[in-house]
Amino acid sequence: AHLPAEVRRKVQDHPCYSEEAHHHFARMHVAVAPACNIQCNYCNRKYDCTNESRPGVVSELLDPEQAVRKVLAVAAAIPQMSVLGIAGPGDALANPQRTFATFGELAEKAPDLKLCLSTNGLMLPQYVDEIARHNIDHVTITINCLDPEVGARIYPWIYWRNRRLRGVEAARVLIEQQQRGLEMLVARGILVKVNSVLIPGVNDTHLPAVSRAVKAKGAFLHNVMPLIAEAEHGTWYGLTGQRGPSAAELQALQDECAGDMAMMRHCRQCRADAVGLLGEDRGAEFTLDKVAALE
Ligand code: SF4
Ligand code: SF4
Repeated sequence: AHLPAEVRRKVQDHPCYSEEAHHHFARMHVAVAPACNIQCNYCNRKYDCTNESRPGVVSELLDPEQAVRKVLAVAAAIPQMSVLGIAGPGDALANPQRTFATFGELAEKAPDLKLCLSTNGLMLPQYVDEIARHNIDHVTITINCLDPEVGARIYPWIYWRNRRLRGVEAARVLIEQQQRGLEMLVARGILVKVNSVLIPGVNDTHLPAVSRAVKAKGAFLHNVMPLIAEAEHGTWYGLTGQRGPSAAELQALQDECAGDMAMMRHCRQCRADAVGLLGEDRGAEFTLDKVAALE
């Protein structure tokens, strides 16, 4: 990815964003955020949130205090640990107390760790100040569309101000919140990566416009991920027959968007409790019972 010098400086020890760092620094996710405030058609809620994770994976849910213990134990065992993220298993900002309690403790006890979170963006505008206060280094927003008509085919409902909104109305609110959140983060100098799930026949022809728009607003990286629609991961919510893209379709779309901005091609869609260097997951070595034994 061709990043501006100032962004490059910020991400130089972030394994996800720097090809260099990716071999030397490790990242870790803690699964402290169980609830979600929207429904994506590609999510069946039994598994980790697709904002940042492969579907079909179940992570060990931790409370903030357990998560902090785990992070400290892992950081002691893996000295290259540089980044801690909250990416599920639901939405980080649909669980604000749990998410910010975890970040708050860690900022105190492990001040060298860079913090990040991923979100569907619905609650972003409300929490941008808190994100800035916690020194969160970068945020990933999953943005699948700009057009509410397209959105209505991806999101059957959202939960908004104590009401369930559906269809185009729901998609319009979600899209507005995502775009406003993106602008507010950029205005505060917080790095924003945008993830999009490529859904053939639904948002494939629309994603180049999404890429241009988020770049214009200051997102530093766009990561187009394939919809993974395998039977064992559950089917497209409420519908059948939705397929994922072929490798060639994904590549073609990434190439098309690459004309507009830096594209990320090595994201592994790590699980919500991934641990280690990119491409490895040592999460199984650091389950809670094993962490207790390390302490
Ligand atoms: Fe599932 Fe994540 Fe979508 Fe929520 S935001 S419905 S957890 S994929
Ligand atoms: Fe990095 Fe992608 Fe894994 Fe997140 S899901 S830690 S961005 S490789």
